[in-house]
Amino acid sequence: MHIAVEEEKCVGAGQCVLAAMEIFDQRDEDGVVVLLDAEPPEEQHAAARDAAAVCPAAAIAVRE
Ligand code: SF4
Repeated sequence: MHIAVEEEKCVGAGQCVLAAMEIFDQRDEDGVVVLLDAEPPEEQHAAARDAAAVCPAAAIAVRE
């Protein structure tokens, strides 16, 4: 699995962090997403897919 984020789309809603804390964080200054792990281990794949699904800005792309 490979994850990519588009920072310019992100609206800082934080849904991705709630869904997958091991993979996403947010910048302190403006809440924009920070990708912590672009190639997460198998056990985090479901959470990564959830994060992409709940992102209101469709800023997270998951490639299997
Ligand atoms: S859920 Fe989407 S819009 Fe919200 S912080 Fe994460 S990437 Fe940004």
